[in-house]
Amino acid sequence: MDVHESIEELRAGLRSRPRPVVFVPTMGALHAGHLSLVRLARIRAGERGTVVVSIFVNPSQFAPHEDFATYPRPLANDLSLCREAGADLVFTPAREMMEAPDASVRVLEEDLSRELCGKSRPHFFAGVCTVVSKLFHVVAPDAAVFGEKDFQQLAVIRRMVRDLLWPIEIIPGPIVREADGLAMSSRNQYLDGESRRQAVVLSRALHIARTALDQGERDPQRLRKLLLDELQGAPLARIDYVEIVDPDALRPLPVIGSQVLIALAVWFGSTRLIDNLCMRNLPT
Ligand code: AMP
Repeated sequence: MDVHESIEELRAGLRSRPRPVVFVPTMGALHAGHLSLVRLARIRAGERGTVVVSIFVNPSQFAPHEDFATYPRPLANDLSLCREAGADLVFTPAREMMEAPDASVRVLEEDLSRELCGKSRPHFFAGVCTVVSKLFHVVAPDAAVFGEKDFQQLAVIRRMVRDLLWPIEIIPGPIVREADGLAMSSRNQYLDGESRRQAVVLSRALHIARTALDQGERDPQRLRKLLLDELQGAPLARIDYVEIVDPDALRPLPVIGSQVLIALAVWFGSTRLIDNLCMRNLPT
């Protein structure tokens, strides 16, 4: 596995590598969720193709009050995990390499970005779209893998690729969870013992909603009440949003038809956790 810090080096390294090139962008602090994406990339690339992982904590997707400075950066461990998971090439650019100090061009997705997380993190998706665009230009992948854990991000990236006519297949990776159900996240390590214990409430609430949907519940208000009741049972949980939306448009559903996305964002202290449940092909 080769590790490249500069764009020139990465491009040179890629020139001698066979296609397809399959790309997994990350911010590092890798866990089993990230590694599942690398394995999916390996499958899509086949034995001969090339799997590229990027590790870059992207400053432009953090607001000034957010955790850019303290975001974990265990690079040596990340590199050995990438090697084990089957990456061929890891790109670890320095901040200066990815952003001119007077950069004045950004990529904006102006529809899906406004919903859900876009309301409490209005800067976020412009930061994501801009950095992913740059990474796509540098890596020029045939396909890229994104986790369904960040469902809205996946939707926004799909839209960006569609609207900008990039010939890049976007492959979704299912949410990987801890044994108790908590969706894996690099930010889980911020949680203290009691918050960590209570954080399981997100996946438990989604499980309750899934059971209700399986039993035929189609009323978003009643479903939302079930979710709120469960989340409010965790004294340390501070709800950012509980939304029941269409998984394509990300807009609230007046009535649940054949598909639904339940999306949650909940604070534990200064740590904001997200989780979701997407169901398609519901009997109507
Ligand atoms: P991040 O390093 O948080 O920017 O995430 C990099 C990629 O890993 C994104 O596509 C995320 O959606 C994905 N990811 C993060 N956590 C998980 C998880 N628990 N399961 C599956 N994919 C994940």
